[in-house]
Amino acid sequence: MRKFAAILLCGCVSAFGWGGEGHSLVARIAWDELTPAARVRVTEILGSGVTIQSVASWADQVRNQRRETAPWHYVDIPIDQPHLDMARDCDKGDCVIAKIEEFRKQLRDPAVQGVQRREALMFLIHFVGDMHQPLHCSDNKDKGGNDVHVQFSGRPSNLHSVWDSGLLGLMGKEDDLLPVYAHDAAKHEKSWAKGSVSDWAEESHKAAQKITYGRLPKVAAGDQVSIDAKYEKKADPLVKQQIEKAGVRLARVLNEALQ
Ligand SMILES: [Zn+2]
Repeated sequence: MRKFAAILLCGCVSAFGWGGEGHSLVARIAWDELTPAARVRVTEILGSGVTIQSVASWADQVRNQRRETAPWHYVDIPIDQPHLDMARDCDKGDCVIAKIEEFRKQLRDPAVQGVQRREALMFLIHFVGDMHQPLHCSDNKDKGGNDVHVQFSGRPSNLHSVWDSGLLGLMGKEDDLLPVYAHDAAKHEKSWAKGSVSDWAEESHKAAQKITYGRLPKVAAGDQVSIDAKYEKKADPLVKQQIEKAGVRLARVLNEALQ
């Protein structure tokens, strides 16, 4: 969920970045790939018995009370631009890329303790997930797809919400998806863990150009777009892969920060 208006439109939690299920999957995949040392540190920070998946959507839960955090969940790279431009797309450092860098730096710093350390970790767990939702790294002057009216699964919705949780919700239950996702993530771990946060954002943006917007059936401006089986056939594998990549990369960020 990017802009407040979308809450009024949608009225559902699902418009807040990957839905709870997507964020939980990202966290659980990452946990599988954490080093023993990093797992100990994460548990020290969160408290024993608190899992990383249980805090993976915390950043969405506080965003209405902490309005300044709302732009931290995404970066608006224009869909007609080939690359990220931090000066253009990340004004005053208020975007997901700058915030991931800021919070990973805080985690690396042993002087950062207590609530600040805990929040840095919880923001990181969430934001690495968010930036892998293609519509959190692209914009077509439509609030990252929030203004694109669609018909999905027999109901009116919007493109952003479909990508946050609609598609994934039809792909299976979290506990059934996890073993497959974790297995495929581990298989590609070496190549996916490479690169910078900006590289990952550009990759997400390219996926939005190619599939999220690129495969959208063309309709007259303002008309409702029907999300059909043909679109889902292209979109579903991308949703799966983006969640797997997010898990691998979250593990890398935490393994590096919490050695
Ligand atoms: Zn979010």
